[in-house]
Amino acid sequence: MTQNAIYRARRALTGTELASILASIAAARTIGDILDAAITTVFTALLGPLGESLAGFGPDRRLDPGEFAIPATQWTAICEAAMARADALGGRMAIALELVNQMPATYDEPAAPVPDSPPPDQRPYEHVLTVSREAADVICAASRHCADLAACFGEDSREYREAAGSWQHHLSQVFSMAFGPQTRVSRDGDLSLLVSTESGFTYGVIFHREPRRCTHNGCTAVIDDDGTARTARPGAPACPSGQHILSYPLDAPHPGSWSFHS
Ligand SMILES: [Zn+2]
Repeated sequence: MTQNAIYRARRALTGTELASILASIAAARTIGDILDAAITTVFTALLGPLGESLAGFGPDRRLDPGEFAIPATQWTAICEAAMARADALGGRMAIALELVNQMPATYDEPAAPVPDSPPPDQRPYEHVLTVSREAADVICAASRHCADLAACFGEDSREYREAAGSWQHHLSQVFSMAFGPQTRVSRDGDLSLLVSTESGFTYGVIFHREPRRCTHNGCTAVIDDDGTARTARPGAPACPSGQHILSYPLDAPHPGSWSFHS
């Protein structure tokens, strides 16, 4: 949204309007109700002074959220309240994307009223994480792999830092309750995990090996663990002698990193 955009309504919600919106969100009992509470109440407030209501919109006349704007601080407060409410149902991630798509645009107005305090923590008391024995082995193997990289390449090496940093990040995400309080973790390869969450969302934490390349200038060969060199297509540039300079030794632990796959 450019600064020159013409909004149909661009204003701060009053303290009363904001309190009413937050009360609707707090009273919602399903993910759909939470989203409805946030979106409906915000646009009802913004459309009212225009003499319109949401009832005037439908399949034939779509509401364009980008034609409306509220202060960024109020936008954040409403979304935080909705996501905290969704935490009670394991739906934080599900609702976050919808809010981004359906809420009005934002602008800066630091003096706009905001809630006195952040929304309460509404997550259940426990995250029940069920880890299959094979997955427990993967977790141990992944930690060991990082230690092996440190021993081989050094703790300050890019190889160790990329692997250990990505592993720590993704492992801690598995413990997060953003997808609900019940999670099952299973094995998806020697160093990879499959995570099934209560929300129905399943994702992988997958280790990707860094290909072992030849570092000789102009050579495009990739060298397998058994020393076999290959190029992406026949005839691609490669050391004519076959005397490649390996980016890491054949017997070294594989550099690489973990990434998130949905
Ligand atoms: Zn080469």
